[in-house]
Amino acid sequence: MEVKVDLHLHTTVSDGRLTPSELVKYTAAQGLEVIAVSDHDITDGLDEAYATVQEYPNMTIIPAIELSTAVPDDEVHMLGYFIDYDDREFQNMLDNFREGRLDRGQLMVNKLSEYGMNIEWERVLEIAGEGSVGRPHVALALVEKGFFKEPRDAFDEYLCNGGLAYIERKKMTPVQGIEMLSKVGGAAVIAHPARIVGLDEMLGDLKKAGLAGIEVFYAKYSAETISWLYEMSVKHDLVPCGGSDYHGLGNTGEQVPGSMGPPMESVERLKAISDDIRKGPTRSGIPTS
Ligand SMILES: [Zn+2]
Ligand SMILES: [Zn+2]
Repeated sequence: MEVKVDLHLHTTVSDGRLTPSELVKYTAAQGLEVIAVSDHDITDGLDEAYATVQEYPNMTIIPAIELSTAVPDDEVHMLGYFIDYDDREFQNMLDNFREGRLDRGQLMVNKLSEYGMNIEWERVLEIAGEGSVGRPHVALALVEKGFFKEPRDAFDEYLCNGGLAYIERKKMTPVQGIEMLSKVGGAAVIAHPARIVGLDEMLGDLKKAGLAGIEVFYAKYSAETISWLYEMSVKHDLVPCGGSDYHGLGNTGEQVPGSMGPPMESVERLKAISDDIRKGPTRSGIPTS
């Protein structure tokens, strides 16, 4: 079967070696008709990819991303398709996330308000200026509002490790990743899942949280693995997706775009799910924290 679709590709914007423009040209030369530019935790390559694809009228780009999420002792990559990547709140979350401080400060501010200490998150950001937001900035905002005399006083009971308003630095969970994607109309697909321990059970849970698909036609997988994952996709009613996960590193045996991919039908199903997310009540129903 001729491969026309590749839903997993990286560029220089994350850890790939081709620029978005080079990637579009290369995948077009490989005969692909639908590609998803899916960089890690960033969408900055999409505008350039769209500009280049104008030269290839038979080719379509799906706006995508690959989010890094985690479960205890393991990483889980969550792809998102048909995302409104221009959404400002989404981009702010990615900015924060990339700097390893996802919502942590804001969660501490929320926690403090439960104890009657109301400070503005915007003010904390102002105090932090160009720097990464941290507990000292939260402490300064508390002092400014008169809740404590000195910043260190805010640490004693509230901001110290294990304190009443302390939030541990942590990664997004897969469910949080799905929610973040659904807010921008994204259909969430679990990436290269073959080695995940307890996959079957996890898929059941994530499906309830809105998971749309699972990578099945993944270029590095054997035929046996692909058929096992295909069964999983049927069992959990997930769209079978996949692609080359191309980085252009030039390693011997590196799978190139066009070597493996899902059928066109999977793209249509993802699009339909994305459309439903946009229409559905969940979009406005998810609290913006
Ligand atoms: Zn990955
Ligand atoms: Zn990848």
